[in-house]
Amino acid sequence: MIQFESVNPEPAGLDHSAKAFAVQPFEDITSLISHELRTPLTAILGSLGLLKMGQLGALSEEGQQLLSIAISNADRLTRLADAIDHESLLPMTILSSTEIEHFQLENDLYQALDCQEFQLVYQPMVSVESDRIIGFEALARWKHYYRGSIPPAVFIPLAEKTGIIHPLGMWILEQACQQLHRWQQQFPAHSPLTMSVNLSPLQLLQPDLVSQVRQILQDTNIAPNSLKLEITESALIQNYEMAIGVLSELKALGVRLYIDDFGTGYSSLSRLQDLPVDALKIDRSFVNGQKWDISKTIILLATKLGLEVIAEGVETAQELKALKALGCNQMQGYLFSKPIDSHAANAMLSQSGLSYSFNL
Ligand code: C2E
Ligand code: MG
Ligand code: MG
Repeated sequence: MIQFESVNPEPAGLDHSAKAFAVQPFEDITSLISHELRTPLTAILGSLGLLKMGQLGALSEEGQQLLSIAISNADRLTRLADAIDHESLLPMTILSSTEIEHFQLENDLYQALDCQEFQLVYQPMVSVESDRIIGFEALARWKHYYRGSIPPAVFIPLAEKTGIIHPLGMWILEQACQQLHRWQQQFPAHSPLTMSVNLSPLQLLQPDLVSQVRQILQDTNIAPNSLKLEITESALIQNYEMAIGVLSELKALGVRLYIDDFGTGYSSLSRLQDLPVDALKIDRSFVNGQKWDISKTIILLATKLGLEVIAEGVETAQELKALKALGCNQMQGYLFSKPIDSHAANAMLSQSGLSYSFNL
């Protein structure tokens, strides 16, 4: 009987929220694999066998997909195969539950887009000056077929690792723009509603990013300036030279560019001045941590550079008042609404129109 022992029950780097999906120990390898892996082990090992025998040409599309999974997990699979072949060597330590969990999630990610397991939720962005909803930020959720809702902090890094971020990112952008078009039709306003969409740093490296964004804007009939693309400050710092080029091309399309999580990435002021961006989003940690000096500095900086500024993660009336007193009038946070699905957002817009009562 194979005993699965956790090599390292809490490996460094494990996202805290990933613990929610921890796998229970299994007594034998076959039940573990068949229970936890959607792709049967035999199929993966079969692909490895084909790889060894050089019969790649004969592989179906599904086989090719399995093979790429197998290649990326070859070491672990070989150890699994060895374990099966040499049960006498057991009990032995094979995979930690976290390794298995990440391996499973990675596997499932390949099919999640086709299986329509992703959905978008929308968080209102409000102008406290005019008491109005000015737009929404689209946030992705993965409704895993049996694990339930998996947060972006877990699946976006996996999507980046596997390259799925490229089709996924474009799917997110398209869905968000389609939704925005419906809302703009349903709730016309002097200043049309906007949609903010997060871009992964890897998407900035995608050679056809700009043409894909242009195509989606055309297909969904969205005015480019209704779309706000959010890029984290740290992503811009890492790839500064490249980012300037891509952002300039996106800017030329007419879309608006926001620096997300501003204040956490240590951008130098001169670099910031050169970036063709429209707004800074004050990171939630400064708002929740009541770091008003830092918030004030960011607001002043934005004003000096002619940029808009929006505060994220506003949870209390006290935070709202403090930010308003500092001159920040655009906000987003649980005080106004948590991210909600499109039906709930529809209901919110239908009930209040675009006006928003802050009751302060
Ligand atoms: P972000 O773009 O900075 O999004 C804001 C995050 O803060 C969201 O978490 C939102 O639910 C949360 N939030 C908003 N208001 C409050 C508040 O008042 N209090 C607290 N405690 N939290 C608040 P979420 O949806 O889990 O997303 C986390 C991050 O994952 C996002 O940070 C973004 O970097 C990434 N992400 C989410 N959706 C996408 C996506 O479609 N594409 C990409 N590339 N990244 C995404
Ligand atoms: Mg964002
Ligand atoms: Mg943010």
